[in-house]
Amino acid sequence: MPVLMRRPFGGRVSEELGARSIANGDAVPRHDLLPFAQAAAATTFLPHCRNAKCKSGWMKLWRSRQAPILEGMWACSAACMQELVQTAVLREMSERSAQNVVHKHRVPLGLVLLSRGWITQEQLKCALEAQKKAGSGRLGEWLIKQKAVGEDQITRALGAQWNCPVLSSDSYDPAAMAAMFPRLLMDSLNVIPLRLAGRHLLYVAFEERVDRCLVLAVERMLGLKVEAGVLPASEFRRRQGEILRASFPKTRLLEAMNMRGLVHAFTGMMEENKPVQAKIVRVHDYFWLRLWRNSLLAEDSKAVPGIPDLEDMVCALAAAD
Ligand SMILES: [Zn+2]
Repeated sequence: MPVLMRRPFGGRVSEELGARSIANGDAVPRHDLLPFAQAAAATTFLPHCRNAKCKSGWMKLWRSRQAPILEGMWACSAACMQELVQTAVLREMSERSAQNVVHKHRVPLGLVLLSRGWITQEQLKCALEAQKKAGSGRLGEWLIKQKAVGEDQITRALGAQWNCPVLSSDSYDPAAMAAMFPRLLMDSLNVIPLRLAGRHLLYVAFEERVDRCLVLAVERMLGLKVEAGVLPASEFRRRQGEILRASFPKTRLLEAMNMRGLVHAFTGMMEENKPVQAKIVRVHDYFWLRLWRNSLLAEDSKAVPGIPDLEDMVCALAAAD
């Protein structure tokens, strides 16, 4: 909660701090919504260090430090920022719900195809045997190879299996979509951002399995509703190839030995780049820190920023600790 403070110094500084707080968007304290005249009355609320353990008090406000901001929170020093980063990382580590969704039981693809009468028991048996013998390849690929079904039917069956729509990649813009989430996630989870519908809805396409953990993480990071769907495998691979060749926001990848190393790396990134906004989300074993440099864009979290205004850090933990 904001601290009620007597006005320790002249108007200029507090106006600056007030403006900064408003410009940083989602964590605007209630008092900043008051008309200015009212807010500038005998007492003034000032932004304060959001590290609950901070001992420095209001004297630190004299420092010219307006950034970095993590998830709308300002900290008076690098040490206090580290506490905020650690709190965010611990929150992500304890977030189990997304992982559970991912492991929910699905009707096997073969049964979906059988129930629709698109393949026979014999065709399924034949494809499963070939897959087992080869030790590789997906069931759908084997069924297509054996001419039991077409790619279109496999895609529709995957949509039914994951309860999601079959999407279209017409008017695909890989250069714009590359700003959405890190290349590493697109590559390792077989997912691509497909298109924005208006300013609030992002479609993402998966090739084979819908990863709800990624969907939830991207929703939280970008402040957008994310709708997942599937693309036919050949179309997915073509579009994935296009986006993986596009220009991405500058990204640093690293592996941390433990949580302490992860917090240290993220804090260093925050202090070095002084972003006007930043967020941390976890996607499976990856912790993704995104920095926004442009205050106008950070103000409206629904706006999709340009690539030069962004920087990502993706950190994998070497071992759970
Ligand atoms: Zn502090």
